[in-house]
This record gives sequence, C-alpha cells and structure tokens, in this order.
Amino acid sequence: MKITTLGIWGGYPKANSATSSFLIEHDGFHCLFDCGSGVLASLQNYIALDSLDAVVISHYHADHIADIGSLQYSRLIQYYLGHPSPPLPIYGHTLDEEQFTKLSYKEQTTAIELAAHQPITIGPFTVTACPTVHPVYCLALKFTVGNQSAVFTADTEWTDALIPFATDADILFSEANLYEEHIGISPGHLAGSQAGTLAEQAGVKQLILTHLPHHGEIQDILHEAKKTFAGPVELAEAGKVYTL
Ligand code: ZN
Repeated sequence: MKITTLGIWGGYPKANSATSSFLIEHDGFHCLFDCGSGVLASLQNYIALDSLDAVVISHYHADHIADIGSLQYSRLIQYYLGHPSPPLPIYGHTLDEEQFTKLSYKEQTTAIELAAHQPITIGPFTVTACPTVHPVYCLALKFTVGNQSAVFTADTEWTDALIPFATDADILFSEANLYEEHIGISPGHLAGSQAGTLAEQAGVKQLILTHLPHHGEIQDILHEAKKTFAGPVELAEAGKVYTL
C-alpha cells in the first residue's frame, strides 16, 4: 500500500495547497480519501484524473467535499471531448441523504453507501468505517490489504471507539486540529496530545498528524503528541509518500 499526502489543512487550504486528503494506492488501483478544497489540483501532481478508480468521503463538511463538483465537471468535460470514463464510484454515508445524492452526477460519478462497521471491498482494499464524534456524522476509515492497515480518523473529538478501531494499524493518520488549551472548548476535534494517546493506546506503528490549524505554531502540536506516543510521529507534509 502506498499513501501520498495531498493536503494537510483543516477548514481551507493555504496558498498552493489543499485541505487534508490522501491518495491511497495498491496494485495500480487509485483511491482518493476526502476531496476538499485544492485536492483536485494537488492530485494531478501524482496521477491523471482519469486514472482515479474510487473516492471515499468521511463526511460532508466543505473542507472534505469542496472539490467533488470540480471532479465531476472534469469527467463531464472529458466525456464531451471524446474521452469518456466509466462512472467513478464515490463512497459516502447515507445519513445526510441530500449530500449523498449529490455524489452521483450525470453518469460520471456514482454514489455508493458506506456504512459503519460493514466492511466493503474497494479495489484491492477492504475498507471499514467507524463513526466519530463531530458536529455532523463522520466516519473514520481503515484501509486493509493483506495484513497491512492504514487508519484515518477523519474529523473527531476524543472517543474511546477509535482505540479498538485503530488497534495495531501500521500507520494512523490522525487529525490534530487543536492546541492543548482548546481541549473541551472547541468541540469536534483532537489536540496533539489526544492524537498521541490514541496512537499509544491503539498500539499503532506510526502516527501522522493532519487537518492542521491555521493559527499558532503547529510544531507545538507535534511536540504534544510526542509526549503521549512513544512511537514515530510527524506532521503531515504535502507530497510525502508512505509505503507499507
Ligand atoms: Zn468536519
């Protein structure tokens, strides 16, 4: 499994960057995890858009879906130019029916249900979802190939449910949108120390901090995570590749 970081930001992208998103590949299959602002531009640094095989969406906040419309237009325009592609499957939960329906578009993309704790096969991956705690319904995702697994918390505040879900993962991509002083004040997100605690209690091999804030000194978030997780931990970095 090869995972490329496409973007690292929460809320909106900085200049020439993207919100938190990852390209997950194995055996020539290309799966995009989350598709917020700037992701479509970033993705084209690594693959052609018509090489994309599937998209998985954690939840329907704008910083996770903003570029879905542009992705759909890209396929429609290529269709008009005589380069049609088969409908692209976009996986998302169905608890927000209006948003789920928008994942389907003019036979260019097809919405497919992603349900908690019901493993599905997406290309070479077995994908499992676990509800998080966030102002809107959101799913953490686990991508497994053979005995290798990568877990993405997506957006969440602390929840014990993620400990068994992430147990023994080869790599954990945890959101870390908060500074320590914001724990309990800003609902729906984790601080660095909490991401570290999750990694430690789940016994993951490696921790990557993503969905980072636009204020303060983000190295402080890394510093706090190192206090609670004994394993290797780093801030997500656009373009960085992890091979499991
Ligand atoms: Zn969110």
